[in-house]
Amino acid sequence: MREWMVSTQLVPRGIRDKRVLAAMKRVPRHLFVDHSMANRAYDDSALPIGEGQTISQPYMVAVMTELLELTGNEKVLEIGTGSGYQAAVLAELAKEVFTIERVAALAEAAIQRLRELFYQNVQVRMGDGTLGWPEEAPFDRIIITAASPKIPDPLMDQLSNAGIVVVPVGGRYSQQLLKLKKTDKGVQEEYHTPCVFVPLIGEYGWKEG
Ligand code: SAM
Repeated sequence: MREWMVSTQLVPRGIRDKRVLAAMKRVPRHLFVDHSMANRAYDDSALPIGEGQTISQPYMVAVMTELLELTGNEKVLEIGTGSGYQAAVLAELAKEVFTIERVAALAEAAIQRLRELFYQNVQVRMGDGTLGWPEEAPFDRIIITAASPKIPDPLMDQLSNAGIVVVPVGGRYSQQLLKLKKTDKGVQEEYHTPCVFVPLIGEYGWKEG
């Protein structure tokens, strides 16, 4: 199913990074959704994971991961752990992954799954990810997997020089993927695929409700 997912959903839509394609062939996505949903785990769509939240569409995981330009040496911060699937893909491709989830039940389930799958380079924390993880900063890469009105200021402060942020930015109900790169000459911004994510709720995100 994973081979099929990669060859029908990712390659034809332009995902080229061989390491990303290989990682998505390896990570058992069906173990990141409820048993009752396992037969739909490789569908071309986001799926519910409880608490009103979703595991992102495989293509969206692939695009965001490719935009991060991971080589294997990076320290990555993810905001929005959800099921833990994106964190597992990142863990295959980077040195260390720190991921924050605001919903306790989801954070706990993700910790359990990642432990059972022996991902030893991922740390999960429960809390408001818009504040970042100051004790572990700076991060070489930051990925926000929830819709954000803008990049939260604390996350910009926690990005290393030459760091990259990938985030769906825009309105609460539709966004566009933004890739931001810090360089010696300032900040470069590129807009990519339109997308629809659940909202980033927090001090530097949307208000609840
Ligand atoms: N990356 C996830 C995965 O692989 O399953 C999917 C993430 S889901 C689209 C967005 C997640 O962001 C939800 O689980 C939601 O609870 C979480 N979230 C929203 N606001 C947050 C915040 N301020 N801090 C941390 N997590 C947040």
